[in-house]
Amino acid sequence: MRDFTGACPWCGLDIDVWSENPRLPWSRRCSCGAIALGAPEGEQNWVIDAMALYYAISPGREGAALYGDLAWLAEFYIKTEEGGRSFDASAKKDVFWRWFKRELPWERPTGPMTNEERLAWLESQGEAFRGRRAFREAREAFEEAIVLARGLGWEDKAGKLEKRLKQL
Ligand SMILES: [Zn+2]
Repeated sequence: MRDFTGACPWCGLDIDVWSENPRLPWSRRCSCGAIALGAPEGEQNWVIDAMALYYAISPGREGAALYGDLAWLAEFYIKTEEGGRSFDASAKKDVFWRWFKRELPWERPTGPMTNEERLAWLESQGEAFRGRRAFREAREAFEEAIVLARGLGWEDKAGKLEKRLKQL
């Protein structure tokens, strides 16, 4: 097995930061939204548990089966790639890594929208993504809404949306 390099498989960025998830010391996050999680041999379900916690999903199946076949991840719009192996000198253990990236689809508008409707739609998408802890998608939705509000000259609205964006 190759070494874990910390290079994101989807955007190639080299990552060496983050441990937002105190339940698993071996964790990284890329600015594209991908995360890498590692665990010692035989404890691969720790990776699944931490990932499920991070994305706030409930796989709804029993432990050992979860890591064996990862096809179910697609139901949650999560892509995955094997990350390789690293050696943790302080724990004196090999750690096996896996990458995950969640890309939630945007709800399709039902038809042509006025600017007001489009703004409301972007805002609702942002809130929906936020509720599912898909912060990257939420940010994109709010950023687009802010640009639209500015373009319409609705400074009050843009200011409110900016506040919302900062809370993400
Ligand atoms: Zn990345």
